[in-house]
Amino acid sequence: MSKVILFVCDALRDDIAAQHMGYLEHLVEAKKATRWTVIGELPSMSRPMYETLHTGVTSSVHGVVNNSVARTSIMPNVFKLAVEAGKTTAAAAYYFFSELYNRAPYDIVRDFQTDDESLPIQHGRFYRSDEFPDLELFALGAMLMTRFTPDYLLIHPGGLDLIGEREGGDSQAYRKQVIYHDDKISSMLPKAHALGYTVLVTGDHGISDSAAVGVGGVHGGPLAQARRVPLYFLPPDMTGCGRIEEPVSQLSVAPTVLSLLGLARPDTMTAPVLSAR
Ligand SMILES: [Zn+2]
Repeated sequence: MSKVILFVCDALRDDIAAQHMGYLEHLVEAKKATRWTVIGELPSMSRPMYETLHTGVTSSVHGVVNNSVARTSIMPNVFKLAVEAGKTTAAAAYYFFSELYNRAPYDIVRDFQTDDESLPIQHGRFYRSDEFPDLELFALGAMLMTRFTPDYLLIHPGGLDLIGEREGGDSQAYRKQVIYHDDKISSMLPKAHALGYTVLVTGDHGISDSAAVGVGGVHGGPLAQARRVPLYFLPPDMTGCGRIEEPVSQLSVAPTVLSLLGLARPDTMTAPVLSAR
């Protein structure tokens, strides 16, 4: 059993992560971590996949079928199950998460900074602007970790989605932001591991190359660049299996998080728990 930090790096594409997340790839190469390629569910859009990552079911089951479905989750989900079991939860994340698990519609004055133990996300820092800087988001995540040491912490930077949609997944700007994510995650890892956290790093979806110079990337459908994301599994004892070639389902993330937290999974989550031993 362990505490868990899940980084959902919005629009983190599998192949570009493999090329540019240097420290995480070192840990994989040294078998101090485990890495899978995840076949993302559809649509490869943000809000539906936030819900899939936290419920372990597909969009046609949870009903969050596009980004406009602004309501709370009706499925058993990681946040709710954790709090019901007496665990603490926190998130530094886009406001869609506040709407999915705490309250909808989002009210920036009420919800921007949330500390309420009766809610599924007890300590939330929910940004509204798509331009919210990753620098500050990673800092909020680190603050939540050190101030509250929650059992489950979600950290959700949005910069890759913003840059990828503007400039494409093959752009220098997108690649530099992937390197920046590796930098910020590697900075947090020693403290997270010392506190007993297993750290998972994945994306909600990927993003396509630009169709032409000056045209941005897209996501939404089954295009491999939009669908395939990495999953890095970084346990506190820094042991792992390296790179595992067989792809895994995105539906396995939620039951894997619950398993790490020592919680039973609900009947709705039928995908296998991932094993990094
Ligand atoms: Zn997204």
